[in-house]
This record gives sequence, structure tokens and C-alpha cells, in this order.
Amino acid sequence: MSEENSLLKALDNTVLSRRSFLKWSTALGGAAVLSGELNLGLKKVEAAAAATNLQADVTVVPSGCSHNCGGRCVLKAWVKDGSIVRITTDDRPDSTDDPQLRACPRGRSYRRRVYNPDRLKYPMKRVGNRGDGKFERVSWDEATTFIANEMKRIKEKYGPTAFYNHYASGAGSLFAGSRMATRLLNLFGGRLNSYGNYSNQCIGYVTPRVFGTGAVMCNTRDDWKNAKLMLFIGFNPAEMIFGTNTHYYIKQARQQGTKVILLDPRYSLTAQSLVDEWIPIRPGTDNALFDAMAYVMINENLQDQAFLDKYTLGFDEEHLPKDVPAGSSYKNYVLGKSDGVPKTPEWAETYTQIPARRIVQLAREVALTKPAMIMHGYGVQRRAYGELPIMGANMLAAMTGNLGKPGAGVGTTVNSRTVVGAHPTPANPVQESISVFTWAEAIVRGTEMGPTDGVTLLPAGQKTLKTNIKALFNIGGNTLINQHSDINKTDKILRDTSLCELIVVADQVLTPSAKYADVLLPVVTWFEKDDLCTNWGPGDSLISMSKAIEPLYECKTDYDIFAMIADKLGLKDKYTEGKTELQWIQQMVADSQKADPKFPSFEEWRKKGVYIFKSDPRIPLKTFIDDPVKNPLKTPTGKIELFSTTIWNEQKTGFVDAKVMPAIPKFQPEWEGGPWDELYKKYPLQAFGHHYQPRSHSTYEEVDWLREAFPQRVFMNPIDAQARGLKDGDKVHVFNDRGRMMLPVRVTPRIIPGVVNIPQGAWWTPDNNKVDQRGAINVLTNYRPTPGSRANPQHSNLVQVEKA
Ligand code: SF4
Repeated sequence: MSEENSLLKALDNTVLSRRSFLKWSTALGGAAVLSGELNLGLKKVEAAAAATNLQADVTVVPSGCSHNCGGRCVLKAWVKDGSIVRITTDDRPDSTDDPQLRACPRGRSYRRRVYNPDRLKYPMKRVGNRGDGKFERVSWDEATTFIANEMKRIKEKYGPTAFYNHYASGAGSLFAGSRMATRLLNLFGGRLNSYGNYSNQCIGYVTPRVFGTGAVMCNTRDDWKNAKLMLFIGFNPAEMIFGTNTHYYIKQARQQGTKVILLDPRYSLTAQSLVDEWIPIRPGTDNALFDAMAYVMINENLQDQAFLDKYTLGFDEEHLPKDVPAGSSYKNYVLGKSDGVPKTPEWAETYTQIPARRIVQLAREVALTKPAMIMHGYGVQRRAYGELPIMGANMLAAMTGNLGKPGAGVGTTVNSRTVVGAHPTPANPVQESISVFTWAEAIVRGTEMGPTDGVTLLPAGQKTLKTNIKALFNIGGNTLINQHSDINKTDKILRDTSLCELIVVADQVLTPSAKYADVLLPVVTWFEKDDLCTNWGPGDSLISMSKAIEPLYECKTDYDIFAMIADKLGLKDKYTEGKTELQWIQQMVADSQKADPKFPSFEEWRKKGVYIFKSDPRIPLKTFIDDPVKNPLKTPTGKIELFSTTIWNEQKTGFVDAKVMPAIPKFQPEWEGGPWDELYKKYPLQAFGHHYQPRSHSTYEEVDWLREAFPQRVFMNPIDAQARGLKDGDKVHVFNDRGRMMLPVRVTPRIIPGVVNIPQGAWWTPDNNKVDQRGAINVLTNYRPTPGSRANPQHSNLVQVEKA
């Protein structure tokens, strides 16, 4: 048995008695953060307990895994004597139409999170410098009174826009803490809004501007078998999940003859297991490839001109939106008529490193194989000019007529069809909004930030934000430091208590972000509370999450924590509306029952643990394609705007800069993107961070089994390793002007030369010289928002690697 398989078996076989755990834990007194010694103890306890009979006196409680990995799966807690002794997964009958929602090793290792030595046990207040991670234990009353008093003081002094509820994607259930914070802050008088997210903000910017809607433009997975070709552009469902079972639908399509081609600088698990052909490409050069493919199609008259003429604007000079200057079309740009540079395959080869001959073949194959799906991941748009590859993929889909039909579509997997009522969030009295990625800037210079910094919805006559952010709630998230760009810069901002005056963190373990708390609150895991979750994106499930064990230590649910703070603010009745979490869940389920007559009773649903909604495959844009006159899009012109008039207008108002945010998809050589950047002489390797099997972003990093099974390493091509005298396993420094880390190197041809990849999400662990010891990629990433949506460009980095 391989080492990995042994570990997987161990995940299912080990047992921990709660009584033993608590006894042994209590013996260590009130230490807030437990040590490695305890880890050793845990192993001993488990070894002793492993021999007990698992089946006797066990209750199996259905729950779910609701982290932001891209999936949502069923978990079942086996409870004995008030302690979880085993985790299993979906055991409903499995079928091709209704595949089980089976958990991966992360979900199955969940006991290692519940009974983790680093669990936060009590409310705590900071002692010493912010960021040093030193706290003292306080009572819940003391903690919530302090928070409420600080909230009153800050509101009085700065107003409601000084409050900010930080982006947190660690938990995606109904009662996720960040939602509870939003609810309370809105009731308290409001908070500075934010738009976007750290995942797919450029998609969120482009899609409405091209299609007039924020909806995903890819057909539902049950339609994928109708595609003859799938072109994956950095799409990696084997590692990024993109909906539990997405890989399974791809396999189904391939079994029925669909060909899958992947463009990616990495030979990812998707490349290994789900595709027919892998075409390596230099990161950040997708638009050069798209432009050259368009060049071939135009020169060989392969584009679907009838589709372009009928449904789109902006492809050629004959179909430009009204008042747009002549010469602005995509065709003119591709042929070099507007800038003197024809976008030939040879031109694209110098950027993409894909041979020109292969670009010609690919263009012909994509143009002539119908229907085809153009599917991009999120990583391609977390880059310097992340809006452009999304616009380019849309252009490719339109040029080949692959929209609004079975087996066609563009983007990633489609949105949920799940029917469930939403936990109501009161309206935010504050309108003004920042891009979610610019929060740290708004701490330092919010009062200077206006529309040119991406601020939207400012009240009439107000040019900038009224105040900097002064109070920050970071609930169930690690973006305060670990997942935000340029960790060393963010560290300086957060440590300065004269800038942000209050930081409240609630979490389950002492994450790097939790160390910056002024008040640190311990939250239950979802096995210690009642909750529910829907599917992450694609899928149609409503998963019941029933309480399996009593809360450990003094941990509370997020709902109860904010109810306590609300009480101190005189808002408890408004906050709870007199309902418990279970009563809210009953209300949600009643909504689902009304919308779907087949939805079972509350009790039956809770017992089974999951309900799957059924409906026909969904094909975005179909009604528009069927009758574009009767069903125009909600774009300014009613058509698919391949030349975006909205972006064009944003250029005129100064919201975006036309030089870097064009209205058509033009390739722009990225900053920190390749040899064309001056910095390349000093830092000649492109670095990016992919999603890694042991973690969901930074969640699960505390699980030792997963860290052991999937060690953190920097992946490097043998050519680059040899040039540096490195061999597999050597300790290396990866660095640039923003930071430095030390970790082992994995020498492998699965990454192209000139590029290194460092799995994102490892917890930042600096030594005294600020050299990170664990491989947190954000010590290297850049704070320089993308030009349209002001999103995170965290995959555009130049670095150097040398032996440590
Ligand atoms: S981490 Fe994701 S894929 Fe794994 S069990 Fe949880 S929801 Fe499922």
C-alpha cells in the first residue's frame, strides 16, 4: 500500500474518545493555544481507542462539508458517548443521474479539526502588540461588552462607513459568521460595502458588460455530454472541484466521445486524469493565443459570421455600436489595422511559447468542431489584466457560434438551481462600496479614495470616502493577512493601532489572521451546531447539517456570538427576530417545500441529510438566441457586446484607463509577466499559487495528516533546477522585493521552464528575519489591483529561487 493510501485508511480507522480527550486537555489548564506535546498525546489516545468496537452504541448524524473548496459534500459523524469517533460520507444509492456527494480526504479528516490542539477555547483579548498573537482569557460578557462599547465609540466618532466586515470564505453554510456580522452591522447603522471577491471578480466585472447579466454562461453539467469539444483554459476541476462531481460529468462526456484540450502551464491533476491533450502555455498570455486563433479564423473565413452579425456588436467594422469611432473593432485590431501589428500565430508564439503550427491547428479545430465549450478557470483572471482573458474567451465563443445551444457555452460551471429561502439580511443604510481587494488601502487612505480607485455609489456631491476603515470584523476568514497580497506590507498596516482601531476575529483555530485580533472569539465547528448548506455552485443539493456533539470548551455558534453583541447594543430582538437557528432552518426548508412539492418533510430531510432538486439542463442565452428581438439582453444595445459600450463609457468618466482596460479584448504583456518586464532581469521566474489537495484555500492547514500526505513545496522544472544546482528535496529560498520564504523544492517536469508554482494557502510563519518558514505565497504577491474590477492579481509575480 502506498504511503498516501495508508494515510487515507488511517483517516477512517482512528478513534478518539471525547472523555479521554477532555480529561487530557483539562489537565493542561487554561492554555489558549496547545502545543506539539498535545499532538503527541492525541496520537496516543487515538492508538488506544482504535481497538474499541466502532459499531456499538454509535449514532450516525448527517452533516456536510461547506468550506470554499469548490465543492459541497455529505459528511456523517459517528457519535459515541458524546464524542465523534469516525467520519464517513454519502452512502445513498449511487447512479449516473444522481451521483453521491462523496467527501474527499479533507472532509474525511474533519475530526482532526474538531479535536485539533490549536482549537480556540475561550474568548480572549489582546495583550502586547497587535499581531504578536498574545492574548489573555476573558469572559464572554467581558468580550462582548468591550466590542459593543468600541462599536458605539467608533460609530460616534467616525460614522457607520468606518465599519468593515471583511471578506471571509472559510465557511459557506447558512449561519456562516460573516453573514451574521453583516446582519448585525446593518442593523447597527450600516457599514462600508464591498463588491467582488478574491475568486472570480474579473468574471463578475466582464460578464454583465458583455452579456448584460452576472449569470454564468456555461451550460449545466447534465448537458456537457452534448459537446464535441471542450477547450479548458486553465480549468482544473480535478483539484479545484468546481462543484462536487464535476470531474465525473467530464468523464461521462469523454466516454461519449467529447474531446478535451487543456491549456495550462502546469501538468495538473486535470491534465493527468481528465483531458485528451495538454498544451503548455506561458502564464498570462492567453489573450495572445486567442488573438492569433482569431487571426487564423478570419484569414481562413472560419468564424461564424452569421452568428456574429445577428447577435453581437464589436467584432467587425460593420457591426460597431453607435457612435463608437471607426477602426475600433476586434477584427481591425487582430489584423493589425489599428496598431500595425497583425496578431499572427508567429507573433503569439513569442509570448505563449506554443508553436505557431499548433496555434493554427487549434484555431481550426475549435472553429470546426461544433458544438464546443470554451471553459476557463478562475486562475486565468487573478492576474495583472485579469479582465482580458475573460473577454477573450467570450470573443472565441461568439466567433465560433458556441453560445445558447446544447453542448456549447463559455466560462465555468453554471450557477446553482437549488431552491431555498435566504436568511434575511437587513438593508445596509450605507451605499458607498469599495472593491473587496482594496480594503487595506481603505484603512490607510480611504478619505482619498474615489471612483478612480474603484469606489462606487458615493452619495451625490461626495468625491471620496468620508472616513478610513476604523473597525474591522474578520469572521471565519484568513484574508486579513494570509490570503491577501503582500503579507509584509499588510502586516505593517494592521500592526498600527492608530489606523484600524478595532479588529474582531472569530474562528475555530489560531490562524495567522487571528493573531491580529484585539478580541478573539472561539467558534464551534459545524458538528457542534445546526446548520445547512447548498451546493457550492453547480449541483442542486440542500444538505442538512445537524448538531452531532455539544460545543467544545466555551465555543459558541456565530449566530449566538452576534446575538450577544446585539444584546449589548439593544438590538437582540431585531437581530434574532425571536428565532433560534433551528427555527430559521425550518423556515428555509418550508420555503423549499413550497417551491418544490417533492421536497420531503423537515424530519425526513434531516434524517436523510440531503435533498437533490431535479430539473432539465439549463442553457444560458437560449431565449436570446431563439429570438433576439423579443428577448434582448440587458446590455445597453440589447446584443452581446464584444465591444463593451459600458467599458467605453467608463473610460470616458475616468473610472477605467483605456490604455489598460480596452473595450475589446486586446493582449497586453503583463507587468511581472515575462522577459518584456525590466524586473525579469532580477527575478527571472514567474510564480503562481495553485489550489492544493490538502487545503481549501488556507482551511485544513491545521490538519497534520493532510500536511504529511501533501507536503508544501515549490514546484520547479528540471531545466531551472539544474541551472541553479538544485536537486529534488533541497531547501530553497524563493524571494522578490516583497518577501522571502524557505521551503523544499520539488523538481518535476509537470511545470514548464521559467515558471514555479507554490500551492496557495499555507499558513504564514515568519522567523525573526521575516523569512516565511512554511511557504505562504502571499509574501511574494503584489498589491496592484486589476484595471477594471480592481481585483486581486495574485498569480502575476516574478521571483528568484536559490539554494538555502
Ligand atoms: S473539502 Fe470540498 S471536496 Fe472535500 S469533502 Fe469538503 S466539500 Fe467535499
